[in-house]
Amino acid sequence: MDFSLDEQQTMVRDMVRSFAEQRLRPGAAARDRSGEFPHELFAEMGELGLLGMMVPEAYGGAGMDLLSYLIAVEELARVDAAVAVGMTVTNSVCCWPIMTFGSEALKAELLPQLASGERLGGFMLTEPDAGSDAASLRTRYRDEGDHWRLDGAKAWITNGGVGRFFVCLATVDPALGTRGISAFVLDADQDGVVFDPPEEKMGLRSSTTCMVTLDGARVAKTAMLGAEGQGFRIALATLDHSRLGIAAQSVGIATAALEESLRYARDRKQFGKPIIEHQAIAFALADMDVEIEAARGLMWRAAWAASQPGRHSRESAAAKLFASEMCNRVASRAIQIHGGYGFSSEYPVERYFRDARVVTIYEGTSEVQRLVIARALAEHAKAL
Ligand SMILES: Cc1cc2nc3c(=O)[nH]c(=O)nc-3n(C[C@H](O)[C@H](O)[C@H](O)COP(=O)(O)OP(=O)(O)OC[C@H]3O[C@@H](n4cnc5c(N)ncnc54)[C@H](O)[C@@H]3O)c2cc1C
Repeated sequence: MDFSLDEQQTMVRDMVRSFAEQRLRPGAAARDRSGEFPHELFAEMGELGLLGMMVPEAYGGAGMDLLSYLIAVEELARVDAAVAVGMTVTNSVCCWPIMTFGSEALKAELLPQLASGERLGGFMLTEPDAGSDAASLRTRYRDEGDHWRLDGAKAWITNGGVGRFFVCLATVDPALGTRGISAFVLDADQDGVVFDPPEEKMGLRSSTTCMVTLDGARVAKTAMLGAEGQGFRIALATLDHSRLGIAAQSVGIATAALEESLRYARDRKQFGKPIIEHQAIAFALADMDVEIEAARGLMWRAAWAASQPGRHSRESAAAKLFASEMCNRVASRAIQIHGGYGFSSEYPVERYFRDARVVTIYEGTSEVQRLVIARALAEHAKAL
C-alpha cells in the first residue's frame, strides 16, 4: 500500500497551496465580514483549471483524478472554506453529473464554459419541504413539445445568483415517488428563474446560498440527464461522489484550526511556560492531529473505492460523517486552546468554528450518512 502522492497530485497540492496563501488568505477575514462573493478569485481559479478538475481535457477540463481534486479542495478550505464550497459545487454536483450522464452535445456545449470559470454551476435538489427526504420533492416538470417546463421552489442553493447552469431535480408527478423524478440542466439566465437575495448565514458567509423560484422555467429538450425517471438515481450517485468533497473541506478547515492552535499554544505563556508545554493542551493537540489523519485516511480510501466498479455509498458516507464531525470537534478544541481570544473575531479560529458548523448538515446530514451506513450494515447482517 503506497500513500505517497504522485507527481501530478504533488503539483496540484503545491500549486493550490500557493494560490490559497497568496490570493485567498489576504482577504478571507474581510470577505467573511462583508459576505461579498469573490468573482475575481473564481475567474482566477477557472484559469488555473480548478473549476473543471475532473472534466476531460477534450471538454476544456484539467482531466485530473478524484484524489487530485480532493487535495485541491482541502488546500482551499484550509484558507477559505467559503471559496472551497463554491468550487466543490461547480466541480462535483454540476460538472460531474453532466460529464457522467449528459449527452455528447450537452457536454460539448456546457463543460468548456464551466471548466474555464466563464460560468459557475450548482445543484438544485433541496426544497422548502424536502430536505433529508429529497424523494418528496414537489418541483414539477412537464413536456411542452419543444422544451420542458419547470415550476416550483428550491431552497439553499449554493452559487445561487452567481452561477448560470444548475443540475435541477423535478418530478412529473409526486404520486410516482422516485420513479417520477428526472434530472435537468437548467440555464438560470431566463425570466422563469428568480433567485431571492442570499441567506444571511452563520458561516461560509462569502458563498451565496439562495432560495429560488421556478415559474415556467424552460429547459431545452436536450438538457435532460440520463433518461426520464432516472433523476433520483442520478442525484444519489452524484451525492456519493460529491460527499467526498465535503469530507475534504472538513479536513481542510480542521487542519487550519490545528495549525492556528499550534502557533498560539507555542507563543502563549501561562504559569511561566508556553501552554503547549502543559500536558492537557499538548494532548488536545495530539488528539486533533490523529483525528485529522484518520479522516483523511477514510477519505482517501473512499476515493479509491470510487475508482472501483460498483457503488461506494457506504465508504463516501463514512468519510463524510467522520470528517465533518471531526471538523466540528477540532474547531471547538481550537477555540478552547485560544481561551478568551478564541471567542474573538480577531483570531481566525472563530471563523473556522462558524464555517465548520454546516459540514455535518449539507450534502446529507450526519443522520442521513448514518442511515446510508446502517442500510449497508443491514445488508451485511443478512449474510452473516
Ligand atoms: C449553506 C448551505 C448550502 C446548501 N447548498 C445546497 C445546494 O447547493 N443544493 C441543494 O440542493 N441543497 C443545498 N443545501 C441544503 C442541504 O443539503 C439541506 O439543508 C440538508 O440536506 C438538510 O435538509 P433540511 O435542512 O431540510 O433539514 P431536515 O431534513 O428538515 O432535517 C432536520 C433534522 O432532522 C434530521 N432528520 C431528518 N430525517 C431524519 C431521519 N429519517 N432520521 C433521523 N434524523 C432525521 C436531520 O438529520 C436534521 O438533523 C444547503 C444547505 C446549507 C445550509
